[in-house]
Amino acid sequence: MRCTFKVSMVGVGKVGATAAYALLLDGAVTDLVLVGRDLNKVNGERDDLEQSLPFLQHTNIVATDDYAHIAGSAVTIVTAGAAQEPGEDRLSLLKKNYDLFADIIPKIYQANPQGLVLIVTNPVDILTYHCYQLAPFQYGQVFGTGTVLDTARFREELSKIFGVHPRSIHAYILGEHGDHSFPLLSTANIGGQPLTSFSEYSEQNVRDAYNKAKNAAATIIQSKGATYYAIATVIRTIVKSIYTDAKTVLPVSVPLKEYYGQSNVSLSVPCIVGANGVEKTLAITLSTQETQELTHTAQILRGAYDQIK
Ligand code: NAD
Repeated sequence: MRCTFKVSMVGVGKVGATAAYALLLDGAVTDLVLVGRDLNKVNGERDDLEQSLPFLQHTNIVATDDYAHIAGSAVTIVTAGAAQEPGEDRLSLLKKNYDLFADIIPKIYQANPQGLVLIVTNPVDILTYHCYQLAPFQYGQVFGTGTVLDTARFREELSKIFGVHPRSIHAYILGEHGDHSFPLLSTANIGGQPLTSFSEYSEQNVRDAYNKAKNAAATIIQSKGATYYAIATVIRTIVKSIYTDAKTVLPVSVPLKEYYGQSNVSLSVPCIVGANGVEKTLAITLSTQETQELTHTAQILRGAYDQIK
């Protein structure tokens, strides 16, 4: 018999619906709750998803606007909120999504105080920090998708340069999921061999790969209006790590505690993710320049949050 694994999706727009579909394909979720404010649309998404089930593992799907249905979820995924318009940066979404979070996060906590909460809505790092101010979550219980997507995009670009599978390229983008990220290059390697020692390496082509990864969302939004397949796959990967207690190292966003001197801000740094959410933040080695970049990002995000609260 399958173990019960209940997941709730708050916000069933492009990202929420695509992630729900990705989770169904995986077959691990036994109960899926779709929470949206437009019940007619959420019912439509449920029906469409349900009609894929004859080909898949069965999942009970509930469409609702009532947060009480979240009770008992192992993880609640938050994708509700405004998305970037072409040319808009993620930080400017803070004004639009700050109050929305003040409304929905206490409801999620009240319905399911023990469950994990995965934040996807942008600006994901600041909104992750905001959640801890809105309800008494345990450390690691709430975390953001952070720079998992940026890192995947970076590895994909590096893979084209080095001719190695992205999974074997150990290079991260850290900091903010947004314009204030930075590439962790001082320790980047392929199979333990420093990136810099490969004949394909040049500072310029690695910089170009980083810039392509950083600007990928803006480029896609200009062309088709939104991004959702890659982030849905990120959500599926994180949920799988929770479900299987895989203890995968992922650069998710969590509030920092004296991390290179930084506190009172949520940033993306490599963390161990398992059944209990973020189980550990890794004490990675940063160069002097990378430490300065982390400090700069922390100052920007703390400043943006202080300004709005
Ligand atoms: P969308 O407009 O398609 O969907 C947003 C959904 O939120 C809509 O269905 C809307 O009805 C719903 N919503 C709004 N207020 C709500 C409320 N109070 N309760 C419940 N539902 C509510 O947008 P999208 O493309 O799905 O993007 C959603 C969010 O995800 C955006 O903030 C976007 O920037 C973010 N995003 C994050 C990443 C990442 O890597 N973290 C990647 C892509 C998109």
